Amino acid sequence: MTTQNAKEIAETITSLPITYLITHSDRDHTCGSAGFDTVLMHPLEEAHFRLIGREEKARYVNEGDIIDLGDRKLEIIHIPGHTPGSIAVLDREARFLISGDPIQEKGRIFMFGEHRNMENYIKSLEHLKKWEGSFDEIWPSHANIPIAPEYIDKLHAGALSVVSGKVKGREEELHGHKIVVYNLGFSTLLCDKRYEAEL
Ligand SMILES: [Zn+2]
Repeated sequence: MTTQNAKEIAETITSLPITYLITHSDRDHTCGSAGFDTVLMHPLEEAHFRLIGREEKARYVNEGDIIDLGDRKLEIIHIPGHTPGSIAVLDREARFLISGDPIQEKGRIFMFGEHRNMENYIKSLEHLKKWEGSFDEIWPSHANIPIAPEYIDKLHAGALSVVSGKVKGREEELHGHKIVVYNLGFSTLLCDKRYEAEL
């Protein structure tokens, strides 16, 4: 949100060319793009990236793409739900997954507002099972870092219990939105609505 000199910071740790990749286009994940000509993102993020006034060129990454850094390779996994073009980035060699916002411990996962989709979020957590065993740590963008891979399953179970009405939500207001907060114990899901149990 506030770190506008990502390029400058990166330049203090390497003299190699720097490429800027975003996991998704929420404002708090794009601020550092200032100073870069091009931003790598999933194609489904570009509309929102423009909506918030970003003018840098977009270069697309899709599921299965490998970003070859020379001595390490990063694999792109598409995990829509938090946003349509959210991606996770897997480093098989170092055995960690960069998850962006959808997977957090002790975090607040924003699932309210226009570009969120709970159904896709749940599907994406299932999708990530394909890479089970390929990483030992998850590096989320917020809250505790790093966290254990088991949080994928925990969030999957948690999100399912939310949409089936098994977790009681608490109504709150955040940034002018009326939201319903579902506390899963290890993280909270902030949703648009109250899910009712089917009778
Ligand atoms: Zn986000």
